[in-house]
Amino acid sequence: MKASRITVNGIVQGVGFRPFVYRLAGEYGLKGWVRNTSGSVEIEVEGNEISLRDFITELKKAAPPASRIEKVRAVACQPHGYVSFDIKESETETGQYQPVSPDIATCEDCRKEIFTPTDRRYRYSFTNCTNCGPRFTIIEDIPYDRPKTTMRKFKMCPQCQKEYDNPADRRFHAQPNACPVCGPRLELVDNRGKPVKCNDVIKKAAILLKNGEVLAVRGLGGFQLACDATNEKAVDLLRKRKHRPAKPFAVMAANPDEVEKYCKVSLAEAELLASPEAPIVLLKWRQPSVICPSVAPGNKYLGVMLPYTPLHHLLLAEVGLPLIMTSGNLSEEPIAKENDEAIRRLHGIADYFILHNRDIYARYDDSVARVENGTPQIIRRARGYAPHPVMLLNKSKQILACGAEEKNTFCLTRERHAFLSQHIGDLENEETLAHYENTVELYKKLFRIQPQIIAYDMHPEYLATKYALETGAKQNLKMVPVQHHHAHIVSCMVENGVKGPVLGVAFDGTGYGTDGNIWGGEFLLADNQGFQRLGHLENVPLPGGAVAIKKPYRMALSYIYTLLGKRYSLEGLPLTRFVAEYEIIKKQVEKKINTPLTSSAGRLFDAVAALLNIRMEIDYEAQAAIELEMAATDDIFESGSYPFTIACNRVKIVKPGELIEAVMNDIKDGIPVPVISLKFHNTVAEIILQMSLLLKKDTGLNQIALSGGVFQNRLLHRLTLSALQKEGFKVFTHHLVPCNDGGISLGQAVIAQNSE
Ligand SMILES: [Zn+2]
Ligand SMILES: [Zn+2]
Ligand SMILES: [Zn+2]
Repeated sequence: MKASRITVNGIVQGVGFRPFVYRLAGEYGLKGWVRNTSGSVEIEVEGNEISLRDFITELKKAAPPASRIEKVRAVACQPHGYVSFDIKESETETGQYQPVSPDIATCEDCRKEIFTPTDRRYRYSFTNCTNCGPRFTIIEDIPYDRPKTTMRKFKMCPQCQKEYDNPADRRFHAQPNACPVCGPRLELVDNRGKPVKCNDVIKKAAILLKNGEVLAVRGLGGFQLACDATNEKAVDLLRKRKHRPAKPFAVMAANPDEVEKYCKVSLAEAELLASPEAPIVLLKWRQPSVICPSVAPGNKYLGVMLPYTPLHHLLLAEVGLPLIMTSGNLSEEPIAKENDEAIRRLHGIADYFILHNRDIYARYDDSVARVENGTPQIIRRARGYAPHPVMLLNKSKQILACGAEEKNTFCLTRERHAFLSQHIGDLENEETLAHYENTVELYKKLFRIQPQIIAYDMHPEYLATKYALETGAKQNLKMVPVQHHHAHIVSCMVENGVKGPVLGVAFDGTGYGTDGNIWGGEFLLADNQGFQRLGHLENVPLPGGAVAIKKPYRMALSYIYTLLGKRYSLEGLPLTRFVAEYEIIKKQVEKKINTPLTSSAGRLFDAVAALLNIRMEIDYEAQAAIELEMAATDDIFESGSYPFTIACNRVKIVKPGELIEAVMNDIKDGIPVPVISLKFHNTVAEIILQMSLLLKKDTGLNQIALSGGVFQNRLLHRLTLSALQKEGFKVFTHHLVPCNDGGISLGQAVIAQNSE
């Protein structure tokens, strides 16, 4: 007779871990107990030696699907002579913490139940079990028990309680367990909050959607706006009301077969779609399509997701059409989560509201991902992923890294965990800032973190920076400013488990440089402590500052004027219509009036998009660059590229003057736009390759990390990766965290940890 005391760390609570241990102990005939503590799951088992050994092996191998084991520690102990195996009361330990499970898409067992007429949960929108359902969005504190969730107001009926108490049941200790008798309910109201009489909310909602109405649906982490994706009028109405003229909408399709009708789906993409995280996946859009072009105008990819709650499953099955499912907000505000808040904020957008009374504690947007080279890359990290931590190489101090302005996330570290928050949004209004501050407090509470250090972007105007400076001063924290692109590169290193140094290629739109200029086409020598700027794209003026970002033609004019000189006329170019403004811009640049300098790669893409008349003014971030990428259709082949020079001083400067001139010559020669676009993409990949080869010679480094929002450009990502790999470089790219500013806070935290 041997005995073992086992501690399991990771996501092991709220995911059916104890019943799994209970069953496993039964299978091996072992006695003892299992219990949750604040920091882990503890097990004591005794029995014969072989069974004990096999039990521990199986514990790791056969763990429930929603769990994530980080560590199993087993030590031998004295046998007690237990006569049974029991699940003991949870033990609360002050100061201890553990990761919290993200929300999990409806599992197959629950999905079957809601479509089975004889099941007691037939058509019940809040069906869940230990393998699926809400977690992070309903938890207010740890340990994860029903009284500490928004489910506490629902008292379980005897039948639900029986499931909850039975270790052999799929719903044993499923905290959000509910049924039509005792659980949350749906309600349908109009846009003044007046209840709509109906026997079945889902059936009525489906009729309204088929009639072209816009519905607000209270989902898992907030409201979504839904309408028929095949109805041009409905889509147009939603766009107008939401003040979102062109930015792509995501679509929800009933099942994988439906998705296959609208999009090309690889095996890896199908897996990602149907994963427990169930993100929006960017898929190649089949044409012609019943889905309106205006869902994602000018885009070759369509963001598609599968239903991930029973409510979505039931609604999609009832409607029988693909639905737009987009965040329930007005332009860039946070998504609405409360019923009354939603009616107040969204009554001008939605005609009807599907409400329910299971409160949402944390706002949680849909995640966005794609598959490149057979592996998923996350573009927006929220539902299904956060607050799952990124593992650090070493134990960290307790740090709050405040993130950037756009697509903000923050990061809190403790031990080897980096808790990267869910996507918060663009920090440019009071509502989003309040959401940010509340979410920081929630994470601090859930993971018992009291930061000693606060890290922030060097940009003085970022709200996250202002928040950091205020909070740091108030709480007397050590303050660590971090350069934007350094943070990008380190975030890529961290998720790849790389210490560095590496050559970092950070290509993005805007990042505050140490010289006060706007950086964004950067070649860095970087490690998790510091960096050296080894090279960058040539600086050009940004005429009018931020206005130039909204008006790419200004960038084109700036490039022409700065790099090619006054002698250049616009004749024969689509830009001629801005000839009058060109004169003003020239004066602005000469007199240096509101013309900050930028080395941004994003602006180079903007300039070329404007030269080609693809996009002169934008309606959403990066629109010009996205449409430039889309112009390089994949049924053409073009291996050519444009000339450029690299000036090899102490800092190497990429001079794109010849590139701009050659593009203009191609336009004048009538070369088709797709060919020019592809040649331009080839050129940018070539710039990265040539710079990397030069810098490798100087530094001896063969490891490259690619980061920054420009690498969301799939064509560029592919071309760059293959060019670098062909030359034998070891290239690291993003998978777990976004390459855009949504990943910045992770890099900031690690740099702060290593700062003196
Ligand atoms: Zn389930
Ligand atoms: Zn019940
Ligand atoms: Zn950036």
